[in-house]
Formats: sequence, C-alpha cells, structure tokens
Amino acid sequence: MENQSSQMEQNPQTDNTSTSNTKAILKGLTLDELKNYFSKTGEQRFRGEQVFNWMYNHLVTDFFDMANVPKVLRTKLKDTCEIMTLEFVDSQISPLNGTKKYIFETSDKYKIETVLIPEEDRTTLCVSTQVGCPLDCKFCATGLMGYKKNLTAGEIFDQYVLVAKDFGKDNITNIVFMGMGEPLLNYNNSVKALEIFAQELTTGISKKKITVSTAGIAPKIRELADKNLNVKLAFSLHSCFDDIRSGIMPINDKYPLKQNIEAVKYYARKTRTRITFEYIMLDGINDRDEDVEALTKLCKEFPCKVNVIPFNSLQHMDPTGVSAELKSTPHERINEFVQQLRENNITVMIRNTQGEDIAAACGQLAIKYND
Ligand code: SF4
Repeated sequence: MENQSSQMEQNPQTDNTSTSNTKAILKGLTLDELKNYFSKTGEQRFRGEQVFNWMYNHLVTDFFDMANVPKVLRTKLKDTCEIMTLEFVDSQISPLNGTKKYIFETSDKYKIETVLIPEEDRTTLCVSTQVGCPLDCKFCATGLMGYKKNLTAGEIFDQYVLVAKDFGKDNITNIVFMGMGEPLLNYNNSVKALEIFAQELTTGISKKKITVSTAGIAPKIRELADKNLNVKLAFSLHSCFDDIRSGIMPINDKYPLKQNIEAVKYYARKTRTRITFEYIMLDGINDRDEDVEALTKLCKEFPCKVNVIPFNSLQHMDPTGVSAELKSTPHERINEFVQQLRENNITVMIRNTQGEDIAAACGQLAIKYND
C-alpha cells in the first residue's frame, strides 16, 4: 500500500501514464490538478497557475524558462518533474499543398502521427488520441494497425506544442481530434486535453474551432455533451443503413445508427452546435440514389452539414483483405452526389484529400510495429 500511494504521489497523472521514470509528469494536468499538485508538494497553490501558463500558453519546455517562478523552485521542479511527453522523430511535407506529417515518439517508445493542414482560410492541426485504434473501420489504415495504447492528455497536447514550435503558435487556427484512434474510447484523456485546449490563456483557439470526431460511441457522445465543453462534434456516418455501416464499421453492431443519431441530436441540442457528418465515398457501397435520399432525410431532422471525403485506397496495407476491395467513388459521381444533396438544400462540402501523396490524408495514418 505504502508503495502504491508513494507512486501516486510521484506521478500526479492517473490515466495511462506513458513514462517509466520516477519523475512527475506535469503536462496533461488541468489547472486545478496543477494547483493541487503544488499544494501537496509543500508549495503555494498559485504556483500551479504560473506553471500552467508557462506550459500551455508560452509552450515552454524547460523549467528554467519560467521567469516568474523562484530559482530554487525551478531547480526542485527540474529534479522531480517532467514537462514534455513526446519527442520529435521525423516530418514530411507535401510538395503539392504544404500538408505536413509529423512523427513523434512517446516516452515508452510508441510512434504516433500528427498532421498539419494549411488551407486558404485556416490551418488545421489533426491530433491523435490513441496509438493505433481498436475499431477496425475497413476504410482506415489506423484500424488495420490494431490498438496499442491510449495517449495521455499530455501526449495529446504535446503534439500541438511540438507543431506550434515548428510552425508558429499563431498560425494554427483549428484543432481536430481526428488523427489515429477513437477519442471517445480514450474519454478521460481526450476530455482533459480538450479542457486544456479550450481554456482561456492556452492556445487562444476558440471552442468553435476545436472538433472531436467519433465513429459513434453513443453513451460517450452524451457524456461529452453534458461536460459543457461546447466543442464541435463530427460524426463518422458513412452510411445511413445499419447493414452497410456495420460492414465497413464493426462498432455499428454495438452502437447502431438509431442510438448514435439520438446521441448526436442530444449533443447538437445541448451544445447548440451544428454536427458535421463525415461521409467517405465508397464505390457502389454508399453512393447510390437511395443513399442521397436517406442522407437528405436525416439532415433535415436537425442542424448539421455533410463533409464528403474521397476514399484513399488501402490496397498497399491489406492486399488480400476486405479493405483492399474498397474503391473510391469516381469523381463524376462524387460531384453528382454532392449536387443532388445541394438540390435538396443540404449543406455539403467536398473535403480535399490533402496529404495523399505523403500518406497523411484522412484514413491513411498508420505506423508499422514489429511486435
Ligand atoms: S476511422 Fe477512426 S475510429 Fe475507425 S479505425 Fe480509423 S481511427 Fe479508428
């Protein structure tokens, strides 16, 4: 018992801590948790606020840069605590459109991918919440990797820190939890990271520009709505028919459409935000006239919009599996599909496949492990 509680004291993060050393990891702690940590370790509570500001607003990575923290405390922090949870490994930039893919490594040696997508009117950072993913969506390379571990809140936030240091904090305008993993299956860490991202005095990015994307974990969608974080929600719909959706997204067997749509409507009502439906275009699977009809009917029920996404082939990842058989809907049919929805007064956008040339586009993030 004594051992356990002293370990807890050493390490204030209780969720999926990704380090094996004995120093406390401060990155990922909320303001209240930081204040409590300082008070428990014999310091004044307001030091927690100072350190919060340095770590999440000024993005400092060394305690000695925390100018208003006394030198003696900085030395103590250096000896007993860590700030950074990730290390830069590599990056690749698309010569076509400037999309940049970063590879980072956790302290327990897992690699993750993070993507920066510059567009005309915004620059979006797409962060990962898990190493791999257990949900096995057939159109997604991350799903083919399988699940390795949940990222801590610190590891989620440090993706932003490292990219902001490279690209400039003020140049990142939007954050999406849409990289590797299902954020709502790593609920506690995702929520903590969202709380930090969305807090005044951290990133300066408004809640309206922070989006969580989910494959549909209905009870957690409701729980997130009740958190009053009021960030935006994107729901990976991909079909309005349970049998088709289950064929490409096995999680649909556990949480079928009816349950998820009720949860998503609850989210829209509770947070007064407009839901985005993600819709990946699969040839002959979800691009028929009856799909337009069903999608139109659904979208008329509450405030939402549709993001249509051309599919990126996974043949190279899974040459003999179900995923390899999937093909993208031809461009002409995608345009026709979108036109049909627009004629029905549905707000719809075609999402560019930014980063396809460097395997950084939607559904392409994957790292091979030899374990
Ligand atoms: S689409 Fe999202 S939820 Fe599905 S396997 Fe890929 S990362 Fe996981």
